Amino acid sequence: MIQETVTILAVDDIPDNLFILESILGDIDNYKLDCVTDGEAALKYVANQPPELILLDVMMPGLDGYEVTRRIRQNKSLPYIPILLVTAHDHSSLTEGLDSGADDFIRKPFDINELMARVRSLIRLKRSIDEQSEMIRQRDDFVARLTHDLRTPLVAATRMLNLSLEGVFGEPPAEMSEAISNVITNNENLLQMTNTLLQVYRHEAGQKKLVLSQISIYDLAKGIVQELKPLADEKGIALTLDISESTLSTGGDRTMGDRIELRRLLTNLIGNAIKFTDKGSITVRLSINPHTCEAIPSPEAIEIAVIDTGAGIAPDSQERIFEWFYQGDHMRAGSGLGLHLSKRIAEMHQGTLALESEVGKGSTFTLALPKLLTAKA
Ligand code: ADP
Repeated sequence: MIQETVTILAVDDIPDNLFILESILGDIDNYKLDCVTDGEAALKYVANQPPELILLDVMMPGLDGYEVTRRIRQNKSLPYIPILLVTAHDHSSLTEGLDSGADDFIRKPFDINELMARVRSLIRLKRSIDEQSEMIRQRDDFVARLTHDLRTPLVAATRMLNLSLEGVFGEPPAEMSEAISNVITNNENLLQMTNTLLQVYRHEAGQKKLVLSQISIYDLAKGIVQELKPLADEKGIALTLDISESTLSTGGDRTMGDRIELRRLLTNLIGNAIKFTDKGSITVRLSINPHTCEAIPSPEAIEIAVIDTGAGIAPDSQERIFEWFYQGDHMRAGSGLGLHLSKRIAEMHQGTLALESEVGKGSTFTLALPKLLTAKA
């Protein structure tokens, strides 16, 4: 088996020390050792051709080993490079070294076998992290292509089916109309799932940027409730929006947010409430409350509670409900992505999304968002 060459960068201001490292590591066939004598030169080297491992002296004039480590870790454009700090000083701080982002620490004079073992272990770590990053890259690439390629034919097929249903190609018999309607519904569900998947990946990949503006949560919620009411009516359950007069009249329902993303979040919560409730009611209750949550940067939060009298969620499922692809055991489960995405959107708005639920009684999902301080109507 051909062994891949491993490039190791050694950084030390004392040439004799570099000579020792060279004599130990330079003889190993697949190791290629490069040496520099100060922190600045090390940073330049790393930016030009990231090595697979850095052996870094701690005490150097100019930038010391801790500072070089910090700067390498801050540079997000670099791949992961393991850093082994090497020191001759007893008082060098292991804590500071590890806190600055180094992976391991060795004191001089070192035992040759120990040094070799640490080098081998860090190279294994590097290989395994590289493999993981490659798998994540391939997965993201695959999902982006898949969702993109699925959407176009789905939209086209649905359009054709709608035209058939409208009789553009001749009046279809009743049985056929029913079958076409079913296929349209399935296509729409698939399209919605594909869209959600694409959104989740955009969020995960950090590509999602919020477009912020002042938003009245009441207006937003009112629009969504109106839009989803026919679905609740169909199931014979009441869907109401509840807000106190005082909140409404002071314009206290304003936050800075991304309208499309917040709409997506509330539609998910209210849509789920309708999907998982068969009798009773759904109330969307808006209130302004002081809070103790550190994540929310304003003294008061706008709370939007979506309260249903549906199936409820068992305690062990409650803990996992916001995870990727978690569908619970309800037969109407969809992709299991909606709540994961909802929580991410809440957090991007410096808000929180919490759940209280009891099986057989119902669930309450509460979204809390920072209340806009200058919120005078
Ligand atoms: P999806 O609904 O597409 O499966 P979600 O992430 O929105 O994905 O929800 C995950 C799971 O949480 C659902 O499959 C369901 O089991 C459960 N769930 C969500 N909302 C409710 C609710 N209001 N009542 C009962 N179960 C719910």
